[in-house]
Amino acid sequence: MESFQEAARNWPRTRALICDIDETICTQFDQPIAAAIAVLRQLHRSVEVHYVTARPEASRLHTMNFLGDHSLPGGDNLYFCPLSKSTRAHKIEVMTRLARQYAVIASIGDADEDEHASQTAGVVSVRVRDGAEAAAWAEVARLAGISLPGEEAGG
Ligand SMILES: [Mg+2]
Repeated sequence: MESFQEAARNWPRTRALICDIDETICTQFDQPIAAAIAVLRQLHRSVEVHYVTARPEASRLHTMNFLGDHSLPGGDNLYFCPLSKSTRAHKIEVMTRLARQYAVIASIGDADEDEHASQTAGVVSVRVRDGAEAAAWAEVARLAGISLPGEEAGG
């Protein structure tokens, strides 16, 4: 539990988005999901992006290259799953910690374990469903208060 002094020091907290990687921002390891790329690029001025993934540390270089290739923010905020942990436990642990440190606007992911970890951490959960990726990312944009290119302001 965070002490009063710690809470005061961290206030106001930076806004953050918690983001899964596979089937959320890309498919087949490095095929980008267009809606995710568009929203994440817009977000970086106002919201920090933190990637909480089931990928192991060994995939760091490949993952950072993917983020760089698509001009995505958050390359310093990658949380890989330690080999000693289940992905479920890893996601709960990291999301709970992030929820204390940041004003988390939402967590977006495609799997039950993403949704479960969000709920455990007390974070709003946005579910990416196959074929409806754009709708999920539009919801994140709405929660972040950003409008995407081509959208009417305030629409
Ligand atoms: Mg996933």
